Amino acid sequence: MMQTSATLLDLVSRYQAFLKEFIYPIEKEIIYGSFKSHLPKLRELRELAKSKGLFTPHLSVDEGGLGLSLPEFARVSEILGTSPLGHYIFNCNAPDIGNMELMHQFASPFLKETFLKPLQRGEIRSCFAMTEPEHAGSNPIHMSTKAVLEGDEYVINGHKWFTSSADGAQFTIVMAITNPEAENVYQRASMILVPLDNLGYRLVRNISIMGDEGEDYMSHGEVEFTNCRVPKSYLIGEEGQGFTLAQVRLGPGRIHHCMRWIGICERALGLMCDRAMLRELNPGKFLSGQQTIQNWIAESAAEIKASRLLVLHTAEKIEKEGAKAAKEDISTIKFFVSDVLMKVLDRAIQVHGALGITDDTLLSFWYRHERGARIYDGPDEVHKSVLAKSILKSRALNGGI
Ligand SMILES: Cc1cc2nc3c(=O)[nH]c(=O)nc-3n(C[C@H](O)[C@H](O)[C@H](O)COP(=O)(O)OP(=O)(O)OC[C@H]3O[C@@H](n4cnc5c(N)ncnc54)[C@H](O)[C@@H]3O)c2cc1C
Repeated sequence: MMQTSATLLDLVSRYQAFLKEFIYPIEKEIIYGSFKSHLPKLRELRELAKSKGLFTPHLSVDEGGLGLSLPEFARVSEILGTSPLGHYIFNCNAPDIGNMELMHQFASPFLKETFLKPLQRGEIRSCFAMTEPEHAGSNPIHMSTKAVLEGDEYVINGHKWFTSSADGAQFTIVMAITNPEAENVYQRASMILVPLDNLGYRLVRNISIMGDEGEDYMSHGEVEFTNCRVPKSYLIGEEGQGFTLAQVRLGPGRIHHCMRWIGICERALGLMCDRAMLRELNPGKFLSGQQTIQNWIAESAAEIKASRLLVLHTAEKIEKEGAKAAKEDISTIKFFVSDVLMKVLDRAIQVHGALGITDDTLLSFWYRHERGARIYDGPDEVHKSVLAKSILKSRALNGGI
């Protein structure tokens, strides 16, 4: 169901109203406190989001969602990004949203019924285990995790980390080598669903990120698979399709992340302006009167606007022509918007002075936890290289020097 722009605006304002009334007032207490101890309150808010028809906005109407197109969901995602809890409350947070999209397209009817549906209803959470500490995640064809078929079961052995939100999740999708002899290195790995109550699975630890281990959804796990047995039917897609499926998972995922980052930037810019207007340097002389501060506000506003236009353009292109056709644009937004995010957060902190580095505002949470934006979903340098090579290739093809 395509939303007209008037209905989309109405929808966006309903999300804004929900965030203002129910989430902004409690978010700091939850993100700087124990996430687990707030789970009952968070469940209540998720039920409230359901009752207001705002849950899982990315899903089709048949699946209980709002049937939004990718560009429409992008607009909603920006609003949700203004709170660290936004996407979680409405059940469209990474890594669950990527797993939902992947399973919707490639999982068997049994896996959909048993795992996807409860995930979509918000009854369980999931995670995605691809990166290994021993190998460069930016070139994941090199991995040690193996899944060997024994009768009707895969036996999985391996070590992963940065399995985001593993703590408290009910299943993971693990990337493992199943076809080591395949000539094409991109056809050696497969994706297999592993329920996390499996005796062969262990959450080693929640990795401390700049001093914060986090908990539950807000954590990044180091995990181990030791003779971890799952039925052969828990394979997603075909054997050897792992990297193809990973690409499917990542295409729209970059739109989700970029729009979330733009939401963070908008909130940080708001905080920057409020502080500049309130902070008195001398009686009657406010920080907002300083040209340097004005430059930061203007530059941030311009960069945010440019980011939004770039991301929405990319979302339209993916929607109309597919992720492959939008490859250059996807790489462009990944490094461009993550850089804008870093700059805007840093300026907002600077404007707040010492207050900026305390946990009295959201800025320090984002500064710590969003530094990873330049690393995950492909480090920025890889995306720059993809874009530059594509530009050089097309110049050569078109008779450039
Ligand atoms: C917050 C966060 C959440 C994550 N969540 C998940 C998750 O849920 N599941 C999962 O499986 N993984 C996850 N990851 C892991 C992520 O996918 C990897 O960190 C990423 O792929 C980079 O791999 P690496 O850390 O091993 O860095 P490396 O591959 O070792 O690269 C290190 C650096 O080398 C440079 N570099 C690498 N390649 C090139 C190149 N071609 N050209 C120029 N420079 C290059 C870049 O600067 C890069 O940052 C997460 C990571 C973070 C930070």
